[in-house]
Amino acid sequence: MKWVYDFSEGSREMRDLLGGKGANLAEMARILGPELVPAGFTITTEACVAYMNGGGEAPSGLDEQVDEALSSLERGVGKSLGDADDPLLLSVRSGARVSMPGMLETVLNLGLNDVSVEGLAARTGNERFAWDSYRRLIQMFGDVVCGVPGSSFEQALRAARSAKGVEEDTGLDARDLRTLSDGFKRIFEEETGEPLPQDPREQLRRAINAVFDSWNGERAIAYRRINGIPDDWGTAVNVEQMVFGNRGERSGSGVAFTRDERTGEPTPSGDFLINAQGEDVVAGIRNPEDLHVLADLMPEAYAQLRAVLSGLERHYRDMQDVEFTIEEGRLYLLQTRNAKRPAQAAVRFAHDAVDEGLLTPAEALRTIDTDSLEALLHPVFDPAADYTPLTTGVAASPGAAKGTIVLSAEEAIQRAANGESVILVRPFTEADDVAGFHAASGILTSEGGKASHAALVARGMGRPCVAGASEVVVDETANAIRVNGTELKAGEPIAIDGSTGTVTVDDVPLVQPEIGREFQTVLSWADELRRLGVRANADTARDAARARSFGAEGIGLCRTEHMFFGEDRGELVRRMFIAAEHWRRTHARARADQDDVDSSEVAAAEEEFRTAVDHLEELQRRDFTAILHEMRGLPVTIRLLDPPLHEFLPLEHFEARVRELEEGGDDAVLERARRDAEVVSELQEANPMLGTRGIRLGILYPQIYEMQTRAVMTAAAKSAGVGDAPRVEIMLPLVAYEAELRQLRETVVDAAEKAKRDAEVDVPYSVGTMIELPRACLIAERIAHHADFFSFGTNDLTQTAIGLSRDDVENSFIPAYLDRRIIDRSPFETLDRPGVGELVRIGMERGRRANPGLVQGVCGEHGGNPESVRFFAEIGLDYVSCSPYRVPIARVAAAQAAIADDE
Ligand code: ADP
Ligand code: MG
Ligand code: MG
Repeated sequence: MKWVYDFSEGSREMRDLLGGKGANLAEMARILGPELVPAGFTITTEACVAYMNGGGEAPSGLDEQVDEALSSLERGVGKSLGDADDPLLLSVRSGARVSMPGMLETVLNLGLNDVSVEGLAARTGNERFAWDSYRRLIQMFGDVVCGVPGSSFEQALRAARSAKGVEEDTGLDARDLRTLSDGFKRIFEEETGEPLPQDPREQLRRAINAVFDSWNGERAIAYRRINGIPDDWGTAVNVEQMVFGNRGERSGSGVAFTRDERTGEPTPSGDFLINAQGEDVVAGIRNPEDLHVLADLMPEAYAQLRAVLSGLERHYRDMQDVEFTIEEGRLYLLQTRNAKRPAQAAVRFAHDAVDEGLLTPAEALRTIDTDSLEALLHPVFDPAADYTPLTTGVAASPGAAKGTIVLSAEEAIQRAANGESVILVRPFTEADDVAGFHAASGILTSEGGKASHAALVARGMGRPCVAGASEVVVDETANAIRVNGTELKAGEPIAIDGSTGTVTVDDVPLVQPEIGREFQTVLSWADELRRLGVRANADTARDAARARSFGAEGIGLCRTEHMFFGEDRGELVRRMFIAAEHWRRTHARARADQDDVDSSEVAAAEEEFRTAVDHLEELQRRDFTAILHEMRGLPVTIRLLDPPLHEFLPLEHFEARVRELEEGGDDAVLERARRDAEVVSELQEANPMLGTRGIRLGILYPQIYEMQTRAVMTAAAKSAGVGDAPRVEIMLPLVAYEAELRQLRETVVDAAEKAKRDAEVDVPYSVGTMIELPRACLIAERIAHHADFFSFGTNDLTQTAIGLSRDDVENSFIPAYLDRRIIDRSPFETLDRPGVGELVRIGMERGRRANPGLVQGVCGEHGGNPESVRFFAEIGLDYVSCSPYRVPIARVAAAQAAIADDE
């Protein structure tokens, strides 16, 4: 087995075997030349895996191969490890397949001992440098290899500085550092019970094992959990000749980005420290200087660095993050990797790289991390503002909002109706709070995480949300919240930043980002390259306008129930359902030919329903007209009523009404209220989410779907009249049986045709269905005969395919499943490809088989999740529909999928 590769044998493609750092050191040595990259070799990740599997024993052959590689390194540089007069010193560095910054270990200056430190001093004529290097070795070897607490060394160092009266380590001279090294050795011996190993080859062996072991350190394990990195990858170990930034005033160490790492501006940025080794730059003992000071201090090295930076960027075709050291004016590169960057910098780089002719638009799009983009689209706390955080929670839905505290959905609606900006604060949220969400500018909860109901709904509506802020205690009786002893009454101001999870009572200014010119350009490239359409989920004219401005090519889901939850509509909706149910019952009894029902009773029930519905129909028509106007010329998919009955008919409401009337009220009215309460109690279901909802409502109460169809079609006729070119698609939810759709399609078409005749305008429309039950996917071929389009509702499909209730998962077993790695992500955030994804594929293919012209899209939350979007593009759906804010993200993700597919 080959465990060891010289830098000259590696390349960037060998990242899995050599780790990212090793692969890129080899690559840099090849493209920049060996004079710029210190020589060295890499021990493979496979060796680490073998070491772990062997219970901490080096696999056979490793020692010999390290010896060989070391000899050849010694020959190459003309120095040997442990040489008393001119010792070779080594750095021993970790390097996993993906960068895990700061999680794994490094040992520098390895190879020094009591003898060679004198040799190094004599040879370089720089005694201070030699002793500085030695004390660093003792410190790092002690800390990393032998577990001596780093603080004991730091304490001694601090003591040395204050004894000398200097602020920085650079103020210590050779004598001080020699004394310090003796002190460090004593600490080492006290803590470990052994003296510092003097044999350099033993130092090396133990350092290599320590780097292997750091893979299973607590920090590294935690990091892997959070980032979904497999435990069995292991880390490579790079053994490399040391170069010295601590040799004096013409030496130093730094980090550099090829462009500004915050803004993406095309000037390199970074930090630099004179007379220091790399660790000092991040350790924060000394304040690093701006990279550009090098221009004056060491103009030649600086010019060379800038040339190298742009060369690396050209070679890697991406922005780079580089570590370097300058030793007596000579530049060395110690690391390069693709730079992590915030959205703003990512967009700026993509834009400029094409402008400069560095990348093609397709290459530039690929450098963008779509997950980060959302930050560009919501208002945020002004980064320049000063404020004190009150508490923090989970950054559940991005964007910032300010407003007064309200503790209930009703109060949110009331205050918002008066033009007030409110923040809805709840322990957690439920379906009934939805209208309150809509009214609120932001949501704060003390329970739940990124996949909680609050988070999902907030993201869907584009409302900022901080969830799971566990220090927030909501006290509804006191009408106040308490946070660590601070009490805030409802009505007092608060501000939340859902991008960071921060909560404050300070009046922080919010800054409104817009899709800047550069982002527009980048998005236009994405539009040219992608094949997947992107629509938005929008229930109001305001959301529709936003969706359009973000580039949505239509509305893929307009939920009509949100129109039912509006301020003054609750009572109307309850009356409508009661009347519809009453009508249904009377009608059923009449049909059963029971002699106590006469036809006038049925007619009366129908009349009651019509009165209840008239006003609602008018309100819906107005809502639709406004939406169609915003979306002129683009398709708008309107979903007929979907939620479980109980959301419209809360039993408590009806019972409270009865109690109220019992206190004193008209007998007839009380009688009526009792009847209603009884009907509602009979309609209660044990599993509402699997109960009377979706098209089942339409089967029981076809009048309601008729009414909605009429409202849609008269709105469409009206917008056609003013030239808005409406394209309505009427969608029936939760179909399981083909006959459901066959029957109700007829109802809908009849109502639509009648509305057209009445309006004397011919407007085009289509009728389709949501596919969101496993049975519907399997019998999609039959369903497709009655549908002009399919829209996969992946939220419900996930619930029903896995048998998992979205509203409950968060607090029950899912955290344990994540912890035990049964799953690695919530299936409600990223589509479960093998299960739910396969159902979508089956449904799509079978649907297309029956009806080749079938338009097929997705309208679940997954439509805005980049990884899921890539899947939908791969299988060939026509479009995704997502929340307006996620439209630009979906455009980029869809383009990335097309680019990957073309390769
Ligand atoms: P990390 O992965 O934590 O960044 P590194 O392996 O990059 O750890 O090492 C940390 C620092 O040690 C580097 O940034 C560099 O400054 C210094 N270093 C590593 N190897 C060498 C070397 N061969 N010569 C001089 N300094 C080095
Ligand atoms: Mg590094
Ligand atoms: Mg659904």
